Amino acid sequence: MDLALTPDLRDFRESARTWLEENVPREPRPPLGPDARDFDLAWQRRQFDGGWAGISWPVEYGGRGLTLLQQMIWFEEMAWAGGPYIGFCFVGINQAGPTLIARASEELKNFHLPRILRGETVWCQGFSEPGAGSDLVSLSLRGEVDGDHLVVNGQKIWTSFAQYADYQELLVRTGRGE
Ligand SMILES: Cc1cc2nc3c(=O)[nH]c(=O)nc-3n(C[C@H](O)[C@H](O)[C@H](O)COP(=O)(O)OP(=O)(O)OC[C@H]3O[C@@H](n4cnc5c(N)ncnc54)[C@H](O)[C@@H]3O)c2cc1C
Repeated sequence: MDLALTPDLRDFRESARTWLEENVPREPRPPLGPDARDFDLAWQRRQFDGGWAGISWPVEYGGRGLTLLQQMIWFEEMAWAGGPYIGFCFVGINQAGPTLIARASEELKNFHLPRILRGETVWCQGFSEPGAGSDLVSLSLRGEVDGDHLVVNGQKIWTSFAQYADYQELLVRTGRGE
């Protein structure tokens, strides 16, 4: 396998490096709390305004639609530039957004995806339960559709950043599991 960068990829690296040099926040990320939330969302917004948000998301959903190699170069350059950790935007950008792209209705995509990319909403992850950790097949929390509502019965634990989040990607059991 030839891992040498093509001229196009070298140009891409140069443009990523130039933008990061000029835009990576110089002030330290505040300790975990509301100020860190504001800091992370502002950094996400700055990347959005610069055209660097959602680099692996399809173009039709506001991303850059970049290749795996371009993503790797972007993350390398981010690390070399001392860019801040994705922090509060982790679940929205890396999990909830791509899941919505794959499975959601157009209405939900149109509502949520721009807000995630622009750094306007924080998502948390509701996977673990008292009786289910790595073994997600053991999930027992139930979700029943009742008109416009999803009625949820059961327990979740380990929900990092729940107190700061606007939305949660919540795993619920809807079938009988037979
Ligand atoms: C700091 C922190 C933050 C977290 N934040 C979140 C969050 O935001 N949202 C959320 O949903 N969860 C969160 N979690 C929970 C995390 O996802 C769970 O800890 C994880 O799912 C493991 O579950 P468990 O601790 O019950 O361990 P278990 O699932 O009981 O696993 C214990 C050990 O058994 C092994 N094991 C499990 N199943 C098998 C198997 N079938 N075969 C062989 N080995 C196996 C595991 O590898 C592990 O070594 C967080 C955890 C931590 C520590």
